[in-house]
Formats: sequence, structure tokens, C-alpha cells
Amino acid sequence: MSLRVHKYGGTSVADIQRIANVAGRVQKAHDGGDQVVVVLSAMAGVTDRLIALANQASKTPDKRELDVLLATGEQTTAALLAMMLKARGYKAKSFLGFQAGIHTDHMSGKARILDIDSKRLKKALDEGNIVVVAGFQGADNDGDITTLGRGGSDTSAVAIAAALKADVCEIYTDVDGVYTTDPRICADARKIDRISYEEMLEMAILGAKVLQIRSVEFAKKYNVPVHVRSSFNEEEGTMVINETADMESAVVSGVTCDMNEARITLKKVPDQPGISAKIFGALAKAEIMVDMIIQNTRSGGQTDLTFTVTKDDFERALEISEMVAEEVAAEEIKTATDIAKVSVIGLGMKSHSGVAAVMFEALASENINIRLISTSEIRISCVILAKYAELAVRTLHAAFGLEKPRE
Ligand code: ASP
Ligand code: MG
Repeated sequence: MSLRVHKYGGTSVADIQRIANVAGRVQKAHDGGDQVVVVLSAMAGVTDRLIALANQASKTPDKRELDVLLATGEQTTAALLAMMLKARGYKAKSFLGFQAGIHTDHMSGKARILDIDSKRLKKALDEGNIVVVAGFQGADNDGDITTLGRGGSDTSAVAIAAALKADVCEIYTDVDGVYTTDPRICADARKIDRISYEEMLEMAILGAKVLQIRSVEFAKKYNVPVHVRSSFNEEEGTMVINETADMESAVVSGVTCDMNEARITLKKVPDQPGISAKIFGALAKAEIMVDMIIQNTRSGGQTDLTFTVTKDDFERALEISEMVAEEVAAEEIKTATDIAKVSVIGLGMKSHSGVAAVMFEALASENINIRLISTSEIRISCVILAKYAELAVRTLHAAFGLEKPRE
């Protein structure tokens, strides 16, 4: 007997028919002798609608109450599925996040799971129940309801799988798995059979929407095998697992494109100790996440300092930069929002040289100018003009032979 956590995303529970489809899958696993915990998202579009309602109720909805509101999306689907399973003669029980023992910090709207007291879930499983848990939510020390950020049901599922030491966490979604790149951009994109936590983490950070970033961090930390697969067919999807020796044979596993960044450059900043600390200290204080940072030295004791932030943070980051620029007597500020960050990711980069050269040559072959470059051990990212993003993705996908199946 194995213990499986199933997670179904919003499109998989979009209406009663689809919830019935989910019930069918869950029953099948249960009939096969497995213990099943089901974690659900809200029906597709519901979280957005609740946010819109909150914005009508108040220009600046109170964060505590917003969490109470948003958590109802998942409360609805969990109750409906449990009801349906019971009507079909199965033992089932639904739990809200706090009832499932999901304990988070206080950060309304983007809470982190601190620990899970899985006593109640274990008891319900031992009593033969199919356990249904509302995703995306928990409660903090005060017992107040918190939510885990958009896409947070993925993290609920993986964290519950870790706490219960489940054999697998299956993430059922509306795509067949993790692809080498976005199939809407590149017709040659291929489903990846197996991918390491590390690569998946980079891909999630760089804009692949299939898993919430924190869910991958959890999976990696607690070694939870994650199976990303479709809820609309029986095909095997993508296994996200620990790195294996053969994974390194592919130099590059995927290409991503992130359109959500903006660039700020402070020109002619004095080249002195403490200047960067001042700028990035001010941004950090405002809780603005900075992605790339590049400093070019000019002659005459001055430098240009360039960095990128998400488009959401751009206006605030610019305001702060303008203030600091005045303080440090920078000559001018330049910005760009029409940019895209294309990245190639692969474990094989650890042991292969020349990946950057292939990437730059491929972009050059299409006359695409590279504005900024950054790297990690298993990733190279280039900022280019947004209008070339799709061409760049297709060019890089071909340059690294990703259309061919991995040996
Ligand atoms: N319902 C939430 C959202 O739309 C959480 C989730 O689906 O994972 O982001
Ligand atoms: Mg999702």
C-alpha cells in the first residue's frame, strides 16, 4: 500500500463535471489499495474574482480579511469533492488548511509553511478516509487564516506529502508535464520525462508557471518525488526528482522566457565604497527583490550601475532609485520595461564548457543584441529586447537540440 498525495489545479476542478472527473481518479487510486490525500485549488478564475470583489469593497483591502476571503475558494472545492465521494459510497473527509495542521508565519498573502502537525490527517487516513485538503492556506500562531501566494496549492500538496512521508506527490494540471520550453512559443517543445529539483527550481524562478517556486524548494529539501501530469488523460508526465548521473548527459534541459522584468540604470555614480550598499539597502528595506546587477566602470572615478526588478516593483524601485541617485549625485537614470530575460538551464553545464558561447552565437545569428548577462552554476540568462523574445526562445531551443528526445 502506498500513500499518494494528489493535487488538482483550478482548471481540473473548474466545474462540477470536472470535480466528478477528479473524484473518479481519486476513487481509482483508493480502489487500487492506496491511501490518498487530495489537495485542491479553487475553481479556475475564482481567486481572481474574489480579489476583484475585495478591490470593490476597499481600495486597499485589509490583508487579514483578504486571506479569509481568498481561502474560501479552496474551501468550496474541498467540500464539494468530499461530498461527492461520500455520495458515491466512499469514506471521505475535508479539511481546511488549519484543520490539517498547516502552521505558517504571519505574512498575509504570501505566508510560508513553518511546520505541519499531521495528526488529524493521519488519523483520518487510518480510519480509511480519502482525505481532502483545501490548498493554498494555513493558519499562523494566532490562529489567523493565511494564504500562501498565487499557485500556493502546489506548496500545500508537497508540504503535506513531506509531512506524511508520502511515496509521491502527483500534481494534476492542464498540461502533460514540464516542457523544454513553452509549447505556445515553440511548436517543437517536448515533454521532459525526468528533471532534477535544481533544474526545476531554476525553471520555476525563471517563469515556467507549472509549479510554484516554493513547492519545488520543499520537494528538494524533503526529497519528495513530484509527478507533474495531466488530469485529462492517463499519460505519464514529468518526474521531478533528485539528480541522477545520467541527467548530466543533456547539457541544456530547457529554455525559459520571463517578460516580467524591468531595468534601471544609474549613470555616472561615484566609484566609492558604500554606494551600492546605499542603493540596494534602500531597495531591500522596501522589500523589493533585485534580480540581475551589473556595474560598468567608466573613466574618471565613476561607474554605471544597472539592475533589474519585476515589473510590479518597477515604479517603487524607480522612486527609491531617484531618491538615492540624488543623494549620491548620480548623473541620470535610464529605464527600460520593454525587455525580456531568456535563459537556458541544464545540469550538464556543471561539466561542459562552451554553453555560453553557443547561446551567444545563436542569438547573434538572428541579430539579437544582448543587453545584460547573468549566470548560475546551471543557468545562463540574457536580457534582450522584448520584441525578440519568441524568436530567441525558438533559436535557443534549436541551437541546443532540445527538439530531439533525451537519450
Ligand atoms: N487558488 C490559488 C490561485 O489561484 C492557489 C492555487 O490555485 O494554487 O493562485
Ligand atoms: Mg498552478
